[in-house]
Parts: sequence; structure tokens; C-alpha cells
Amino acid sequence: MNSVVTVSLPPNRTHAVRSATFIRVSARPLIGVVEIREQRSERSKAKSSRYALRDDSDGEYTGRMFRLTKPGGRERYWTILSCKGDEYDSCTCRGFEAFGVCKHIHALRGLLEEGHLNEE
Ligand SMILES: [Zn+2]
Repeated sequence: MNSVVTVSLPPNRTHAVRSATFIRVSARPLIGVVEIREQRSERSKAKSSRYALRDDSDGEYTGRMFRLTKPGGRERYWTILSCKGDEYDSCTCRGFEAFGVCKHIHALRGLLEEGHLNEE
């Protein structure tokens, strides 16, 4: 059975209210759907982005690597969460390139730290 979890994320410079939802479809390999919701303020309309998630970690890597693909496959990112700490996280999206952090990292970190991206 699929499991669904939602974690709230800390505000960033543009959005006060943010959350990430993960729908687990398969445990090994870890596959599911991630939805990131962001609102500029409590009362503004939520904007959401959905991605298919696949765990692309290999045994050698000292962290976790996730592939995020937007519906239709037009946009695809790889988000790396380092076991050395979040200052070593990275992502292939333009937000990360511009600001050194992005919503993908925040969303996956939030889910990982609450134990929702374990493989078993
Ligand atoms: Zn990103």
C-alpha cells in the first residue's frame, strides 16, 4: 500500500509557508511522488510542484542522490544530500546554481530528517 506523509519546511526568502508531501510507491528501489507546496503568506494561494522521485544513490556515495522528474519529463534534477551535512548538499536545478540552495534540497532534507526516505 502507498504511504503518504507531509512535513512542513522552514520559510525561505520568498515563501512563508512551505511543505513537502511524499507518496511512497515502492520501497526498494525507493520510488514515489514528491509535491512541494509554497505560499508567499498564510493567506496567499499555494503554488505546488510535483515530481516523480527515484532514489539514485549508489553504494559508494557518502550520502543520498535522488532523481526528481517533472510530469512529462521536460525537467529533471538530481538532488544530493550529503552525509557530511547540509552545507554539502547540491542540486542540478537553476535555483541551486543561482542561490546555492533550492526547494528540492529543503523538501528532501525535511523528508529525510523525519525518516520518510528510508529504504525499508
Ligand atoms: Zn533544486
